[in-house]
Amino acid sequence: MSLGEFDLIKKYFDRPARRAALGIGDDCAVLAVPSGMQLATSCDMLVEGRHFLSTLAPERLGHKALAVNLSDLAACGAEPQAFTLALALPRVDEAFLAGFSRGLFALADAHGCELIGGDTTRGPLNICISVFGQVPVAGALLRSGARVGDDLYVSGALGDARLALEVFRGTLTLAGGDFETVRRAMEMPQPRVALGQALRGVASSAIDLSDGLLGDLSHVLRRSGVDAVVEIDALPCSAVLRAQPVAVQRLCTLSGGDDYELLFTAPPARAPQVSAAGIAAGVALTRIGRIVGRAAAGHAAHTALVDAKGYAVMHHAASFDHFRA
Ligand code: ADP
Ligand code: MG
Repeated sequence: MSLGEFDLIKKYFDRPARRAALGIGDDCAVLAVPSGMQLATSCDMLVEGRHFLSTLAPERLGHKALAVNLSDLAACGAEPQAFTLALALPRVDEAFLAGFSRGLFALADAHGCELIGGDTTRGPLNICISVFGQVPVAGALLRSGARVGDDLYVSGALGDARLALEVFRGTLTLAGGDFETVRRAMEMPQPRVALGQALRGVASSAIDLSDGLLGDLSHVLRRSGVDAVVEIDALPCSAVLRAQPVAVQRLCTLSGGDDYELLFTAPPARAPQVSAAGIAAGVALTRIGRIVGRAAAGHAAHTALVDAKGYAVMHHAASFDHFRA
């Protein structure tokens, strides 16, 4: 006989509260916020077929569902505290639930972030997590703080998740080991939580990369009222992506999506603190460009792409079409 709703919650999701003042089992959970701190919160939904493929192993789905939320806390420089889980399941599949909860709690425990409540219902597979983190009053990193003259940085490597997606789509093929490497980047992103906190008071603005570098950068530029120059040859990517044709590299690094790296700005004078933050967090950081003044008042935010010599590089949707042909 299959588990009922409450048995399912008890077996797979109910664990004793640790940091929370009140955890699972009541009508509300209760969180304490120490004085001098503010609560940072974000919510991300994952829908099968849109945000993940049915080929994704349950354990990795559990990881990714929380990872994309922790990435939002990281972008704000917040320390993870707790999360809620709203789950729609087509049926009670215990093999799925065991794997899902294992992947979910492994990442949660790695970041000291505890599950404090949620909702469980029957329906098409859908996972909605809300995260709660702490940040010192007025200390959150924002999208709006980029200033003319700031350097532009990115963490880690870009584009592997998109490369893996293209393999799933059948537009290109990779040797087995290479495919597993990029597939892991797509399915098991590592949220840059330690880096985000280390960048508080150092970075002037930050955002996490979920929709692709150019799109996410444009959010920062618009909110900050500035333009940017990006050095296309400086964009960090893996050896696997580096072995691909230049058009594929550019598509994946510039408009890839699902990277979950941090994109941030800092004044040149803070370069030593930026590299110290990267070392403290154990994450490679790459300077990929700089913030420049608004070319034309009232116009949309603009990113100029240049090569190593400073010559303009065109990046059109055409290269995207070419790739997909
Ligand atoms: P209510 O009827 O008040 O909405 P529920 O009966 O839905 O509460 O849930 C009972 C308890 O189990 C609540 O504390 C709720 O937060 C928790 N809960 C429900 N689903 C989940 C889940 N998927 N993960 C964690 N906690 C859950
Ligand atoms: Mg309910």
